[in-house]
Order: sequence, then structure tokens, then C-alpha cells
Amino acid sequence: MRRININTHWCKGCGICVTLCPKGVLKLEQETVQVEDQEACIGCRQCEYHCPDFAITIGEDDNG
Ligand code: SF4
Ligand code: SF4
Repeated sequence: MRRININTHWCKGCGICVTLCPKGVLKLEQETVQVEDQEACIGCRQCEYHCPDFAITIGEDDNG
């Protein structure tokens, strides 16, 4: 499974990643992004590429 790394100190809750994620993996809660459905992540990195605050990155498969 891919690791979705979120730096909650850097995330300002703009929601760009939530909007761009094609799989509904992410959600906003209390102005911070959270992982709603990690297994649905296809690793497209749209979230990582478009986050203006470098607050979300996608790791390699970690073999469970
Ligand atoms: S890598 Fe793609 S599918 Fe996974 S959380 Fe980011 S935008 Fe969504
Ligand atoms: S795009 Fe970045 S700053 Fe905006 S909600 Fe997502 S992780 Fe947070």
C-alpha cells in the first residue's frame, strides 16, 4: 500500500488536493486534510504535485 504522508503543520486546509484527487482518497476535517480511503489511492501524485505548501507526499509501496 502506498504511504500518504501529510504534514499537518504545513497544510492550510485549502482543499486543492481533495478536489484534484480522482479517487476520493482525501477529505478535509477541521481545516486539515486527512486520509479517508487509503486503499483507493492509485499513486497518481496529483495531490503532491499541486499542493502549494508541500504538505502532502506519496511514498513508494511499502509492502504492507
Ligand atoms: S496520489 Fe492520486 S489517488 Fe492518491 S491521494 Fe494523491 S491524488 Fe489521490
Ligand atoms: S493541497 Fe496541501 S495545503 Fe491544501 S489541503 Fe491539500 S495538503 Fe493541505
